[in-house]
Amino acid sequence: MALDKNTFKKAYENKYKDIHGDEIENGNNLQRYEALGSLIRDYVSWLWLDTNKRYNKTGEKQIYYFSMEFLLGRLLGDTLMNLGLIDICKEALAELNIDLRDLEELEEDQGLGNGGLGRLAACFLDSMASLGIAGHGCGIRYKYGFFEQKIIDGKQVELSDNWLRQGNVWERRKIEKSEVVKFGGEVKVENIDGRIVFTQINYEPVLAVPYDTPIVGYENNVANTLRLWSAETVSNEFDYSSFSSGEYLKAIEYKNSVESISQVLYPEDSFYEGKILRLKQQYFFVSAGIQSIIRHYKAHGGNIKFLDEKISIHINDTHPTLAIPELMRILLDEEGLGWEEAWRITTNIVSYTNHTILAEALEKWPIDMFKGLLPRIYMIVEEINERFCSDLWNKYIGQWEKISDMAIIADGQVRMANLAVVGSHSVNGVAKLHTEILKKEEMKNLYYFYPNKFNNKTNGITHRRWLLRSNPGLTNLLCNTIGDSFIKHPTDLINFEKFTYDKGVQEELERIKKKNKERLAEKIYKKNGIIVDTSSIFDVQVKRIHGYKRQTLNCLRIMDLYNKLTNNPNLDIHPRTFIFAGKAAPGYYLAKNIIELINAIADKVNNDPLVNKKIKVVFLENYNVSLAEEIIPAADLSEQISTTTKEASGTSNMKFMMNGAITIATLDGANIEISDEVGNNNIFIFGLTARQVLSYIENGGYSSQDIYNKNESIKNVIDDLINGKYSKDREKFRSIYDHLTIFNDEFYVLKDFDSYVETNKKVDSIFKDMYKWQEICGINIAHSGVFSSDRTIQQYATGIWGPELIYKNL
Ligand SMILES: *Cc1c(COP(=O)(O)O)cnc(C)c1O
Repeated sequence: MALDKNTFKKAYENKYKDIHGDEIENGNNLQRYEALGSLIRDYVSWLWLDTNKRYNKTGEKQIYYFSMEFLLGRLLGDTLMNLGLIDICKEALAELNIDLRDLEELEEDQGLGNGGLGRLAACFLDSMASLGIAGHGCGIRYKYGFFEQKIIDGKQVELSDNWLRQGNVWERRKIEKSEVVKFGGEVKVENIDGRIVFTQINYEPVLAVPYDTPIVGYENNVANTLRLWSAETVSNEFDYSSFSSGEYLKAIEYKNSVESISQVLYPEDSFYEGKILRLKQQYFFVSAGIQSIIRHYKAHGGNIKFLDEKISIHINDTHPTLAIPELMRILLDEEGLGWEEAWRITTNIVSYTNHTILAEALEKWPIDMFKGLLPRIYMIVEEINERFCSDLWNKYIGQWEKISDMAIIADGQVRMANLAVVGSHSVNGVAKLHTEILKKEEMKNLYYFYPNKFNNKTNGITHRRWLLRSNPGLTNLLCNTIGDSFIKHPTDLINFEKFTYDKGVQEELERIKKKNKERLAEKIYKKNGIIVDTSSIFDVQVKRIHGYKRQTLNCLRIMDLYNKLTNNPNLDIHPRTFIFAGKAAPGYYLAKNIIELINAIADKVNNDPLVNKKIKVVFLENYNVSLAEEIIPAADLSEQISTTTKEASGTSNMKFMMNGAITIATLDGANIEISDEVGNNNIFIFGLTARQVLSYIENGGYSSQDIYNKNESIKNVIDDLINGKYSKDREKFRSIYDHLTIFNDEFYVLKDFDSYVETNKKVDSIFKDMYKWQEICGINIAHSGVFSSDRTIQQYATGIWGPELIYKNL
């Protein structure tokens, strides 16, 4: 955007006066932030309008990314950068004695997601806009996002995330583009002139009101749209008849019950509960989204028979799977197409990403609940299922077990993953191993029936947020050595590889990392009152707290190291700071217990003068995107230690790598691709292989009790969980103890313990040689370009949505 500093400054001053009716120097930073946000939004509005006009004119294919979660974080800094205004803005504000960073800090994180899945959706929006693809998001505008985590007495306490308290400058409410979504009632079936007509009657109407946020591409004059839906009553006025008959409170109760649909994000990650409100949320945004897409398409002259040439809908996990029967409903009942044609169009339009093989994450809705809430949709799903099963009967004569495994409706439930596979033309996993497990294990029957639908799209992260924005020091070094072509073509980072052998560059990498560590150390001191040694190894595990992610393994080795250091305070190790952050689902007892354990270890270790010069433990509360942006550039070691086969891809592994941390990892998810990229000598791999884990799962043969009995170090740390060492209340960590022993250690923590400890010794010995360490960090940075979500999105575009999308941009 072509603007000079003085024009910008003038515009900002005017804007401030406009919205606050006062002079800048009389206001506070929050008001200054509001004025800046508002000004930037004005600039974006023109771009937005232009982009939409262009899309309407070219008639190019529109991609809609449906996701129940979008974990955007803050928008001000990234939007400024993408507009090319960051330097001008910084300088103009400086002349007014305002530090841009102080204002950025005041923006609330838009935290409408749980973790990796929601953040992926946000990275994809950034990449689609930056690649000039007409790709838009569709989701829910939760009034309360992912809860705010407080740590009180070592325990997680959940507070509501009232992120809209101070308003949201980025969104625009578009009441005129509202849609009505229908719940419940009955379906009336009539024969009108020889045609069977289905009408939903006696339903409860809910008004879906869209709030649009512009998603600005990187220096390319593109602004796409993230449309989030909010639930309201169809009539906002109170019903006076209710008033007069004394039912005023009932009217308010009704309003609340309708609005509850978009009230709060469910805080479970990789876990599903059959709650009716969740099913309501899913149908609510999917139905509103599809209705508005078709309305827009038709308003611009589109012929419904060619809808699949002009539109793609991608569903992020099974949460938006109702897009399939909802699209069918509209094509059949409202557009009057026949079943075969509607089905061809629907399956051509929809594509599906699977995100997990964890059994507890598979969505299955009880038939009665589904049918009661969505009577017409249920009829359509039944018909899809009947037609599909009849194909199966013809192909697999007498193979009932196979057929019932593949069916969409079975055992009194509707299986969303099966519906998603049957009703879409593409099914992708999110890393090579994950896709292989989907094909050969998890969905093998569906895969052999539809081999051509299945494909892999390894996840990615936007290097604009996760490198350019969060690590300006490193970005500078990269520009000074290899030039700035990597900004538009991230795989050009490979040119950095030859520089990483240069001692001067290694020293520079060390200096940049040290600065980032100092900044984080300051934060740790401010937040937790703990002084950490910035020459220690910053050993970081930040992600959701979950059994399969194995924060327990990390804990046990710290406890083991603590035992060894107390026995021998002169033990030759390089000092380490163990840094954790992450939220546990409020109802996940084991995960919450793990947070307590981490804090108990921190308490013990940090206050023991015998060891606290060598090791420190820190748990930073309320992990979110903004905190991730501060922690990751300061990490030396990236902990990616999930039980092999359980982490579909992971994306923080990629963020760390791109910021020059070295990974210690199991061969799980995208760790495998990272390892393939950098080579064995530039990553620390340990633990069971996928084959070994799958064999244990299939054939048994694992006994954690045996390991406990035979391995003294393990026995000691397990006993430490309940012998009063970490808590006077000896029962406090009983659930972790039981999980690892009497319940046979579901995630093979004890099995991988020894190789993890041994591998950490290697980490230590390499870290002692600063030059060698930084050389490896540099190799990781140089090879991180393929993990930009730009690469991922190009693969989605060419492989799934339509190759023409990319060619036009070359
Ligand atoms: C990247 C990211 C995640 C995903 O982390 P994984 O380690 O891949 O599970 C979760 N939360 C936030 C805030 C992130 O930025």
